[in-house]
Amino acid sequence: MPFDLAARLAARRAENLYRQRPLLESPQGPEVVVDGQPLLAFCNNDYLGLANHPQVIEAWREGAARWGVGGGASHLVIGHSGPHHALEEALAELTGRPRALLFTTGYMANLGAVTALVGQGDTVLEDRLNHASLIDGGLLSGARFNRYLHNDARSLAQRLEKAVGNTLVVTDGVFSMDGDVADLPALAREAKAKGAWLMVDDAHGFGTLGASGGGVVEHFGLSQEDVPVLVGTLGKAFGTAGAFVAGSEELIESLVQFARPYIYTTSQPPALACATLKSLELLRSEDWRREHLQRLIRQFRQGAEQIGLQLMDSFTPIQPILVGDAGRAMQLSRMLRERGLMVTAIRPPTVPAGGARLRVTLTAAHSEAQVQLLLEALAECFVQLGPEPSHA
Ligand SMILES: *Cc1c(COP(=O)(O)O)cnc(C)c1O
Repeated sequence: MPFDLAARLAARRAENLYRQRPLLESPQGPEVVVDGQPLLAFCNNDYLGLANHPQVIEAWREGAARWGVGGGASHLVIGHSGPHHALEEALAELTGRPRALLFTTGYMANLGAVTALVGQGDTVLEDRLNHASLIDGGLLSGARFNRYLHNDARSLAQRLEKAVGNTLVVTDGVFSMDGDVADLPALAREAKAKGAWLMVDDAHGFGTLGASGGGVVEHFGLSQEDVPVLVGTLGKAFGTAGAFVAGSEELIESLVQFARPYIYTTSQPPALACATLKSLELLRSEDWRREHLQRLIRQFRQGAEQIGLQLMDSFTPIQPILVGDAGRAMQLSRMLRERGLMVTAIRPPTVPAGGARLRVTLTAAHSEAQVQLLLEALAECFVQLGPEPSHA
């Protein structure tokens, strides 16, 4: 019996690591219906509340009427249509880069960019806590692959000493499971000193950080020389789907020629690009969304500290509560659910062993009263669960 899948699944269950998909029966938003139950949710990445915005929906509808619903072919054959092109130009403007290239997902953008830029004889250095798609891109590239300590420019510098060939340094802008922000000025300094390129995946920063939503690069005021390869995704603050890489003319042309996840896939539906153009406009013009979100983040952190929860070093909408044990994290998530709240427990292997947590995400669509409800429920659940039993 070569494939003993049942045993693998049973082992997963025994470790409290078995994953299940909640069934969403409503549009995305703070108030959802999941598996038949109305819930107040703090777990989506729709940070600006645009995924169900009437103007974005209308842009999609009009786009479908004008362009149809399917991309029809890959970009290089005959799938590169007007809305894709217009969106790329708008994203280049948002990022202040000469060009941007649209991908169907962030996973593909990361796989495509890393594998197009480095290969055998080169080096890729990644933060230990990078998103899985960046790690997978590094492994697939065939370059020498090494991880540096989380957000540690000195650890990076040590590894840069031993780097060979073209060297790509890769980091999340905002770390997706911790919510902390990469120390980009320091990482960029080290990379530049060694002639390496810095690639930043700012999936969670675009729309939420920077005065005009330009993300972590705008937050730090960094240039294209500091961050030659800049990735953003469209399924989070933009509220739609897809991703982009922004950079120089030569970078984008190289991706068009060599990034296999770009070349060998059907373009996203053009109507989706129409919707994203509208959400980009809202993301840039409606500053109140970012301001309201910042207020909620401050409210949540102050309240959580008062009740003694273990927060992480984050000023972003990702506000995890460290629990430690995977079973306890699951238990807390279940207890919140019984009170009508949905907060996801994140367990290994998504986070390191012993690092299970409740991953609270706040969005501009939440109200202060809803955050207050969450804080009250958390206080009750932690008291009810009692202190963690000490380990022998
Ligand atoms: C969500 C995410 C991705 C993947 O983007 P998709 O468009 O959902 O495939 C990549 N990187 C980071 C840091 C992410 O959080």
